Amino acid sequence: MTTTRQLFLNHIAQTSDAPLMLEIERAQGVYLYAPNGQRYIDLISGVSVSNVGHCHPHVVQAIQQQAERYAHLMVYGELIQSPQVALGQRLVSLLPAALDSVYFVSSGSEAVEGAVKLAKRHTQRPNVVSCLRAYHGSTQGSLSLFGGDELSRAYRPLMPGVSHIEFNNPKHLDRITEQTACVVMEPVQGEAGVMPAEAAYLQAVRQRCNQTGTLLIFDEIQTGFGRTGRMFAFEHYGVTPDILVLAKALGGGMPLGAFIAPHSTMWSLTNNPVLGHITTFGGHPISCAAGLASIEIIQNEQLIDAVERKAQIFIDGLSVHPKVQSIRRCGLLMAVELGNFDTMLRFIRHGVERGGYMSDWFLFCDTAFRISPPLTITDDECRHAVELIINGLNSI
Ligand code: PLP
Repeated sequence: MTTTRQLFLNHIAQTSDAPLMLEIERAQGVYLYAPNGQRYIDLISGVSVSNVGHCHPHVVQAIQQQAERYAHLMVYGELIQSPQVALGQRLVSLLPAALDSVYFVSSGSEAVEGAVKLAKRHTQRPNVVSCLRAYHGSTQGSLSLFGGDELSRAYRPLMPGVSHIEFNNPKHLDRITEQTACVVMEPVQGEAGVMPAEAAYLQAVRQRCNQTGTLLIFDEIQTGFGRTGRMFAFEHYGVTPDILVLAKALGGGMPLGAFIAPHSTMWSLTNNPVLGHITTFGGHPISCAAGLASIEIIQNEQLIDAVERKAQIFIDGLSVHPKVQSIRRCGLLMAVELGNFDTMLRFIRHGVERGGYMSDWFLFCDTAFRISPPLTITDDECRHAVELIINGLNSI
């Protein structure tokens, strides 16, 4: 008989040469369950998606209720759909007043594409600046911003006019010029292995963008919705972007992305010609209902206030372990540095084979493992996770 495992390899397109290959039957809270009942504590959250945990009853209820009203009705922007309006209004209430217009799409990559299109069209400039070791998505345009050559080389020619600067290096800021439509940047680089920006650097980026009339785009796809201990990471820095890009946790586990800008900027997509960005599924009503429920959970359960306390449990428990070289982090987005790929890989493999935890590594950093659990994780669950991680580190 063909096993699900074989069918997965035969028919589900593979781009990883070493998938985790763990079959999951159900997920609840911070745990994933295999068909044999084995549970794994989730240290990834689907890469910062499941900030409110798996199958939170409030999200499940919102999805069920919306599914009974309507799912897809019409391409984006024609009909007034109350889940979109409610989520848009809530998002705007969480942001600086200038960021008052939300364009909903379906994914992070599409949100980045939309934001860059908006910046080019609004400024009528050709060039885009992004950072080395940045990840902004995998579509042709967002891949062009990719801060590493290896994964994008085969897709040349990439989008023209893109240049890369070193993150946290103020000396490169003069490469932002009057020809630069936008700078796209993560306030905390996730896939570089959790590299927070220096405050002075981000402020200097803002200043340079002001001088040159360049729009500053923050990609908070991985850092948004409480992950770093603030609703959005830019709040740590006192630097407001011109366009904010969101996805991942935005949909509460459902696919959803957004780029958010002042109404006066967003207006550029509306005229001459019309339809500056078109999407069929963008702002899907079920995703928006789930997204709103997820924000309600973050606020009602005061998850953001607890982020530092929970992160500290991991730091206290792990930083003394002899195999841990350092821990880079911003809130509950952490990279635990083990110093070499083999040790890190053995640790990840041990988790899925016997260790009872699920972690992974980073696109640009394969010597550290990720800890970004659901923010709903309790203090006791944090202590349990630390125990499992220490057992894992001791067993490899
Ligand atoms: N930007 C950042 C910072 C990301 O981490 C990701 C995904 O990992 C993306 C963009 C792309 O998002 P998506 O996979 O939804 O297209």
